[in-house]
Amino acid sequence: MRDLKRFGIDRGTIWTEIRAHRILRLRKGWVSLPTISPSEIRAVEAHGLLTCSAAARVLSYPVENAHFHIRSRRDEVNEFRTTRRKTPARIGACVGLVEMVIDYSTCQKAEWTLALVDHLERVRALTASDWVSVENAIPEAQRRIVRMRSGVPESTLESVVRFQLTQSKIHHTMQVPIGRYRVDFVLGRGLVLETHGAEFHSERADWERDRRKVAWLRADGWDVLEISYSQVFEEWDSVLRTIRTALSRQRNGRI
Ligand SMILES: [Zn+2]
Repeated sequence: MRDLKRFGIDRGTIWTEIRAHRILRLRKGWVSLPTISPSEIRAVEAHGLLTCSAAARVLSYPVENAHFHIRSRRDEVNEFRTTRRKTPARIGACVGLVEMVIDYSTCQKAEWTLALVDHLERVRALTASDWVSVENAIPEAQRRIVRMRSGVPESTLESVVRFQLTQSKIHHTMQVPIGRYRVDFVLGRGLVLETHGAEFHSERADWERDRRKVAWLRADGWDVLEISYSQVFEEWDSVLRTIRTALSRQRNGRI
């Protein structure tokens, strides 16, 4: 209600819209469009704001595992709740981006945090001083992940693979131009690693283009390893063994 009044919309107009069911009154002082999501309604009813993956989902950032997580200072809220800070910035029923990243990085797994901060870096959602605020508010282990952020990865899957490669101390370069193509990763001297997330490779035309790309790369002398979403998330150990075998084969000069 306060936001609307700031835009010059008076109380009478708001109530006319509420009575006509064009906007919803969620609780005292809180109205919304009827298109609001159930999680936002729950947050407002609990006198809280969405944060962590719940806020990321509402704000259309890529999240795989959204759970209901709110920031609220009310004790009677039994839901997943973080109370330690006030929330100066707010986007609708969500905390601001700085607070969202702070909660996300301390709540979610490191590889998911890296995927989120890579995405936020790519779309330049936070300023340099926003990032400093995030880094100052989180423990060292999480700070290390946030500082790894890069706008180069183009998908969640690429961010997760880069996290895993870094953990395994495998040197890699991302988004490398080769001929008229660009590949996701180059490892060692001649191993290309291509990731295939479900979102970008569902079309037949894409599949055909990928086959031509791989054939060209192999003819050009590259060793090419293609990995899928489920291989990354469910069979990473096996992928890692394959990568190590391919790299040692290269070192032995057998290709
Ligand atoms: Zn959470």
